[in-house]
Amino acid sequence: MFDKILIANRGEIALRVLRACKELGIPTVAVHSTADADAMHVRLADESVCIGPPPAKDSYLNVPALLAACEITGADAVHPGYGFLAENARFAEILAEHNVQFIGPRPEHIRLMGDKIAAKRAAAALGIPTVPGSDGGVSSDEEAERVAREIGFPVMLKAAAGGGGRGMKLVRAKDELPAALATARAEAKAAFADDTLYLEKYLERPRHIEVQILGDGKGRAIHLGERDCSLQRRHQKIWEESPSPALNAAARDEVCETVAKAMRAIKYLGAGTAEFLYDDGKFSFIEMNTRIQVEHPVTEMITDIDLVAEQIRVAADNDLALTQSDVHVHGHAIECRINAENPVSFRASPGKIVHYHPPGGLGVRIDSAVYHGYTIPPFYDSLVGKLIVHGKTREECLMRLNRALDEFVVDGIETTLPLFRALARETDIIDGDYHIHWLEEFLARGTMTP
Ligand code: ADP
Repeated sequence: MFDKILIANRGEIALRVLRACKELGIPTVAVHSTADADAMHVRLADESVCIGPPPAKDSYLNVPALLAACEITGADAVHPGYGFLAENARFAEILAEHNVQFIGPRPEHIRLMGDKIAAKRAAAALGIPTVPGSDGGVSSDEEAERVAREIGFPVMLKAAAGGGGRGMKLVRAKDELPAALATARAEAKAAFADDTLYLEKYLERPRHIEVQILGDGKGRAIHLGERDCSLQRRHQKIWEESPSPALNAAARDEVCETVAKAMRAIKYLGAGTAEFLYDDGKFSFIEMNTRIQVEHPVTEMITDIDLVAEQIRVAADNDLALTQSDVHVHGHAIECRINAENPVSFRASPGKIVHYHPPGGLGVRIDSAVYHGYTIPPFYDSLVGKLIVHGKTREECLMRLNRALDEFVVDGIETTLPLFRALARETDIIDGDYHIHWLEEFLARGTMTP
C-alpha cells in the first residue's frame, strides 16, 4: 500500500478522497491555492502545501508545483480526483518518471479515451455500438455535408478534444452547416487547442446511461451497474440516479456486460465509466471517462462499495479484490448537484455562506466541502455540494429526497436548491419519464420562480 497520498484537487472531491485514505490508514497531503487556505480539505489533511495563486493554471494545474509538493512531503502516490489533471496522460507519465504513482488508468488508456474519435473507433472495434456518424474527423465542409446527408439531419458537430459538455453544436438543416462548422472549429481551437471536429446523428429523445467499471489492468474487470444521468442543462448533468428507471433487467445486463467484456479485452486499470445514449431500446456509445466521476456516490449507495478506496487499492496492488458476484445492487439512489447559482438565470453566486444546515437522517449523504461561514471563491466550479439519497425503492428515495431538500438550508448565497425542490415534485420525474432534453424544455416553460 502507499505510504502517503497527495490529493491533487480541491472541494468536495478532495475531501471525498481524503476520507477514503483515512479509512485505509494512509496519511494524506492536501494541496491548495492561496484562495483555498481555509478550505476543509486543507484542515482535515495530515499535511498541506500551498501550490500557487488562485487561478487554476497557476495552482491546481501547476505540474512542477505538484511534483515539488510530492518531493517535500514524501508522497508516493497522487489521486487526481475529477477535473484538473485527472485525464491528463502526460501528468500520469511525468509522475511515473519521478517514481510517484498516478492513481488512475495507464496513460495509454487516458490518451485513447481523451480523443473522442479514437475512443469511438476503439469502442466499435471492441464490439460496442456507437452513435452513427463520421468515421473519424471531418477534414472539409464537403466531407461534413456528405456524412450529414448519409446519416440524415439533424446532426451534432463535436470537438474531438471536447469535454464538460462543451464543443458541441446542433445542426438542423443543410444550409446551417457551413456557418456551424466555422464556429465550431473556432470554438474548439480556442477551448481545446485542437479544431478537429466529427459528426454524429443528433438523437432527439435519448436517455444518458453510463456504466461504472473497475479493472485490474491484467484482464479482469467488473461492472457496478449503470447510472441514468439524463437530467442535464447545457449537456451537463445535474441529477443522476441508479438503477435507471428506463431499463429492464435484460437491457441493463446487456450494456453492463458489453462494457465489462471490452474492459477485460483492453486490460483496463482502475475506475472508469462508459457513456451511452439509449434510444428506442438501443445503446450507442458516446465516450468514456477514465477517472472517478462526480456522480459516483449514486453507485456507492446501491452497492456499498467504496469506489475511491477500490481505485487506491487497485493502483497499489495491481489486483482487484472484488469479483462480479460481490456486487449486489440494492434499493435506489438519487444525487442532486447543488450549485451556487441563481436557480432561474443560473448566474454564479459565489460568496459567504452565513447559515448552513445540511439535512441528515437515514439514507441521506452529503458530499460537500462547505461549512458555516465558508466563502465560496469565484475562481473554481460553483458546486456547493452533492445531496445523495438512498431508499429501498425509487418511491421511498423520492420521498426522502423531498424531505432532505426541505431540510437543507444554505443562506447568504443563491443556490439551485429551489430547482431540485421543483423537480422532485414534477410528474415526469416522479414517473421516471424524462430524456436528455427534458430539463431544458422544463426550464423554457418558465414555471420556475426565483
Ligand atoms: P462531454 O465529453 O462534453 O461530456 P459527451 O459526448 O459525453 O460530451 O456528451 C454530453 C451530453 O451531450 C450527452 O449526455 C447528451 O446529453 C449530449 N449529446 C452528446 N452526443 C449527442 C448526440 N449525438 N445526440 C444528442 N445529444 C447528444
